[in-house]
Amino acid sequence: MTFQIRVLPEGVKVECSDSDVSMRLGVQGEWKAIRHDERFYRRGVDGSVHGANGIFSPGAKQAVELHQDILPFCRRTLEAGVADAVEVILQRCLRLPIGFYHQQEQAYQAVYPEGVPVLPPDRYRDVVFPVTTGCPNGQCTFCAFYRGKPFSLLRSDGQDDFSRQVKTLFPKGVAGREGIFLGSANALALPFSALGRTLDNAIKLLGMPKRGIACFGDADYMGKRTVEQWEELQSKGLRQVVLGLETGAPDLRKTIGKSDQLWKTERLAHQLKQAGIAVGFTVLTGFIAAEHFPEHRKQTDNFLQALELEEEDRVYISPWFTDGALQPEGRAFDEAKDMKQQLQASTRARVTAYSSHNFYYFS
Ligand code: SF4
Repeated sequence: MTFQIRVLPEGVKVECSDSDVSMRLGVQGEWKAIRHDERFYRRGVDGSVHGANGIFSPGAKQAVELHQDILPFCRRTLEAGVADAVEVILQRCLRLPIGFYHQQEQAYQAVYPEGVPVLPPDRYRDVVFPVTTGCPNGQCTFCAFYRGKPFSLLRSDGQDDFSRQVKTLFPKGVAGREGIFLGSANALALPFSALGRTLDNAIKLLGMPKRGIACFGDADYMGKRTVEQWEELQSKGLRQVVLGLETGAPDLRKTIGKSDQLWKTERLAHQLKQAGIAVGFTVLTGFIAAEHFPEHRKQTDNFLQALELEEEDRVYISPWFTDGALQPEGRAFDEAKDMKQQLQASTRARVTAYSSHNFYYFS
């Protein structure tokens, strides 16, 4: 048997051409991804197991069996002879009690009181550092995640208990992850000095990630800041802010619970870019009657063109879906395709589709 072993920043990956098993393990010996019996499974940060046949809690029979199924493969890998660092991880996997994944679940609930319902698609591999819960706007009619949830600041920075729980979930900090994302709906609502301290604390606890720190923001629900202040936050690691545009048509924006005063969003985007912070915009499709789509597309295009976005900036187009629906209607996808073509032709920013209804926060 020939094993292919790759040491990763956050653990190890083991494959074998003669076996139907391959796996990726974390430094504590926990499995993060498994291919087994031609099926692929991933572990959520909350300890849950995701496969084509469903999502299982850490204690579910299927989840326990999967863990047990990889143990013979661990033993065979060890017998074949491996480097010391890999042996340590495999031995930990063999000894790991199933209760470990329950602890992950509990730590997740403590660290993320409202879960991690969504991230921008290019930030899926970030470590989420929680800062707030709820949304200071909370009025958007289409919002499946934060509507009506009262906004509050989490006193998460610097607390020993909090740090321990984050380290339970991410013992190697940002190693193997892309960046840090300040959760949840609007981290920019923090006062300037608190935001600066939060950036410092996140890096102190988790390390400096290669893609820096990002967050969602809302120009209508935050204090006024100068370009110099944004530059200070940039120097502390803030590299990307994602703003909820949804549409560049002020009247249509108003109908969905957002401000029609788009100059604030425009001013914020200019300031951020002046300070060297990339911007991202979310754009919705399928949320208004079909006859309004041409207007939505035209005004969104005009708004984004005027900002002169660059390669590092992003536009995320998201087909809207109603609460309780498993996925958006067909028209929302068609409009998303149409909008994407239009914006790709008119802006230098990277324009991507954003299936927020499919998001899951994987380990
Ligand atoms: S501002 Fe964003 S997070 Fe808040 S309610 Fe509206 S869509 Fe949801």
